[in-house]
Amino acid sequence: MKTDIKSLTLPELKAAFAQYNYPGFRAKQVFDWLHKKRVSDFTEMQNIPIQMQKELVENFCIISLKIIKKLVSSMDHTVKYLYMLPDGEYIESVWMKYRYGNSLCISTEVGCKMGCTFCASTKQGFVRQLSPSEILEQIYMAEKDMGEKVSSIVLMGIGEPLDNFENVLQFFTLLSCPEGLNMSLRHVTVSTCGVVDKIYELAEKNLQLTLSISLHAPNDEIRSQTMPVNRKWNIEELLKACRYYTHKTSRRISFEYALIRGVNDSRKNAEELAGRLKGMLCHVNLIPVNQIRESDYRASTRANVYRFQEYLNQFGIQTTVRRTLGADIQAACGQLRRDQYKQ
Ligand code: SAH
Repeated sequence: MKTDIKSLTLPELKAAFAQYNYPGFRAKQVFDWLHKKRVSDFTEMQNIPIQMQKELVENFCIISLKIIKKLVSSMDHTVKYLYMLPDGEYIESVWMKYRYGNSLCISTEVGCKMGCTFCASTKQGFVRQLSPSEILEQIYMAEKDMGEKVSSIVLMGIGEPLDNFENVLQFFTLLSCPEGLNMSLRHVTVSTCGVVDKIYELAEKNLQLTLSISLHAPNDEIRSQTMPVNRKWNIEELLKACRYYTHKTSRRISFEYALIRGVNDSRKNAEELAGRLKGMLCHVNLIPVNQIRESDYRASTRANVYRFQEYLNQFGIQTTVRRTLGADIQAACGQLRRDQYKQ
């Protein structure tokens, strides 16, 4: 099988090239073609001898994605991409424009194993993990298509990043390396439904990432109903891991809380949540749940969302109400991919 060359770090590429007896500087040149000039073919690498180009074609492959659909929101210029992977699977990315720059929400897996009842990404099960190059390429493709740079990345698309841990870590190395995109990990947010053992492992790496926890419930009774992962690691275990993460990295944790009418949006729920989070270096992001057709959940009203926020604020918990971007283009993750299979 050919080696996926865009998933290799520069030292790894150097080591791979050493086996072919290529001079050391070739790795840097090829890395530059892949990650700076971003060509999709070895024959475009003009300073590489033709003979070496031929050998590269035989032994390595360059992963690239195809844009199958591009939806532009008429409400807020959010752009949603449906990409096709080399094996014909689909993933999604969402481009969001903010005052401070462009943010891209990317996928880490094809489908998802986690089974959250409100989430479209998991409804057709899990297919496979993405390679580091497939995660990275979502950024390269979007930047090329938009003709602009991305200033922050959120791993909140399809899939559970911590379920694809090694490839996601390799992606961080590629993303932050000076010879590549050179993005500081301070501009990266990783969202997890609560894969506790990996949160500990991530804490040990002491990266300057923002960790975002999809909490969505104030107690185990509600959380186990909506998020099966809670039956493996309950809220107490999850919050203990979060405290450890903050202790290790000094980074503030961000908790996502999607408000579902009549399920998790009462005053009592807010009080219970505040009690749980008291004293933590954290921030709560509130969002009315995006309604998907596979579930009966309804979003809390805007008024209820702001009331919930007010209750949390009364207990000293920092909150924001997340803007819902791209509502007219199904920008919430998983919906486009799901529909592509139905055609
Ligand atoms: N698996 C990771 C990242 C992907 S989901 C995680 O669970 O965090 C990205 C975010 O969207 C998560 O916070 C998830 O809970 C949330 N989400 C999924 N479906 C949603 C919906 N219908 N409405 C609102 N948020 C949703």
